[in-house]
Amino acid sequence: MKECEFCGEEFEPYTVTSKFCSKECSNKAYKEKIKKLQKKYRKEYMEKNKEKIAEYKRKAKQKRKEYAKSKKKVKVRPEAFNRVEI
Ligand SMILES: [Zn+2]
Repeated sequence: MKECEFCGEEFEPYTVTSKFCSKECSNKAYKEKIKKLQKKYRKEYMEKNKEKIAEYKRKAKQKRKEYAKSKKKVKVRPEAFNRVEI
């Protein structure tokens, strides 16, 4: 008898290398492993490109500010209209 590495249930292994009681557990364990790896890689990527990401975020913020400013400029104040009408 062997213990499933995913659910901990005891099972009769078909082969010496069997680690899971069922295909389902094997699939789930595989998916979890991938997820963990992705998380790890993402973390490593963020760590490696910290400055690049910070720079990118800073630029994006700047752009948003500029956009907000340009929008304000376009906005017409109602009192300006009144002045023209008189
Ligand atoms: Zn299992």
